[in-house]
Amino acid sequence: MPHRLLPRLVLRRHRRSVLSPRSAACGCAFVTTFFCPHCFAEIEPTSLVCPLCGIDIVQWRAHPYKKRLVHALGHPLADVRMISIEALGRLGDPDAAMPLVQCALARPVDVTQGLAIVSALATLRRDESWADAVRLLRDHPARAVARAATELLPCS
Ligand SMILES: [Zn+2]
Repeated sequence: MPHRLLPRLVLRRHRRSVLSPRSAACGCAFVTTFFCPHCFAEIEPTSLVCPLCGIDIVQWRAHPYKKRLVHALGHPLADVRMISIEALGRLGDPDAAMPLVQCALARPVDVTQGLAIVSALATLRRDESWADAVRLLRDHPARAVARAATELLPCS
């Protein structure tokens, strides 16, 4: 998938379908929940400015793609974080290594996400900041994640 298509994909994933309280009894209808791309508060789909953090949502979307992907690593929805992790891996920029590792360490019980982050790290260009980040991940509380990070950068 070309990179220029990904921002739209990520933005779409900021929406979440949940059963409507009104229609939950029959289970036949869904409503869509929209999130502020900056503070991740639930907002109305027509909002141009977030009522909580005050950010101009249109202007926020004009920020560089990589910056928005790194920011989305803090999204409360795991599927949004996973899209960002995979997209950052495809970009290959070693500057993403430390934010990815911080994302993994912030959710120590999420082994699936931690392993996805190790896979993304494996595709980044390697420099000293990349190595510093992977060294931190070798101490991840989940043994599977720590082991995968150690395979990526063995202790010397
Ligand atoms: Zn906001």
